[in-house]
Amino acid sequence: MILSQLPRFHLSIFTKPPSSTLSSPHFNFLNHRSNPPVSLARTIFSFAPKSNLATVEPIPLPVVSDSSDLEEAPVEISLDKLFIPPETDISGDDPSSLTARILKGSNIVLSKYARDAQVAQADYVKSSVRTEDCPADGLPEFALVGRSNVGKSSLLNSLVRRKRLALTSKKPGKTQCINHFRINDNWYLVDLPGYGYASAPHELKQDWNKFTKDYFLNRSTLVSVFLLVDASIPPKQIDLDYASWLGQNQVPMTMVFTKCDKRKKKKNGGKRPEENIKEFQDLIQGFFETTPPWIMTSSVTNQGRDEILLHMAQLRNYWLKH
Ligand code: GDP
Repeated sequence: MILSQLPRFHLSIFTKPPSSTLSSPHFNFLNHRSNPPVSLARTIFSFAPKSNLATVEPIPLPVVSDSSDLEEAPVEISLDKLFIPPETDISGDDPSSLTARILKGSNIVLSKYARDAQVAQADYVKSSVRTEDCPADGLPEFALVGRSNVGKSSLLNSLVRRKRLALTSKKPGKTQCINHFRINDNWYLVDLPGYGYASAPHELKQDWNKFTKDYFLNRSTLVSVFLLVDASIPPKQIDLDYASWLGQNQVPMTMVFTKCDKRKKKKNGGKRPEENIKEFQDLIQGFFETTPPWIMTSSVTNQGRDEILLHMAQLRNYWLKH
């Protein structure tokens, strides 16, 4: 499939002009292949990019000038660090057309499956303590997981445009459950318990590990885990461990970097979100055969909201067809 044959993506879902959403203003990509990571093969959405692009210099992209952050600089993405969905061929793309197909603030290339991304309806369905108790209607689902306080509830609310939907998962008795929210009556967002509570008793941590791992390994309708990582701070070991566990167990994963609006130096340990993200990627790359998809978000500015939904849509539509 070459670019000119791709359908135009459903621009009606965007509140911003399409050009700002479909291009990646903060990221350039390079065509050098550096030490491709080894191990792992199952993930159905990871395909090594096949490209005949000859560019080795960073491709000049229109950098969005944000007056609130004059320090923001483009980040380079090499071609082998892009996420190319299945049945997507970028070999006919020149650098500028490929750039236009990368979701803004991510390494994700859009495919022909990127459609029907809008959320029209969101309903809380149930809270389960075991994988076997989860809904059995066979609809595809995406699980959100991350360290407590990473911004998971805020992101869930932002995705469904409801201020308090995720509060349901925070009610007493439900924080340690698998909480299912049905979207548009045809797919699920799943809120999993936050991990890393310093004060959680040892038994609770053990239990949590057991049941969420069981869910990841045995939930046949799980299309992808969305692992939330706070981009305003340097990588934390517990998040790296989590990502590597998913990688080693070949559980399809998308990394969602949260709080990307927090750019003040003194608040984020002297590093910009882009730097923390790069460091995180570098630390986990050995656990993945190909680079997993990742995306920058902020629940304060809604950065990444439409992009996540479009990415979920392309994974979901592909999953439904196969
Ligand atoms: P959860 O424990 O993972 O569900 O996290 P919450 O959604 O409750 O958020 C934890 C804290 O981080 C709250 O104080 C939120 O206001 C704040 N927060 C969440 N998302 C963002 C974000 O994108 N940017 C900023 N600056 N703060 C956020």
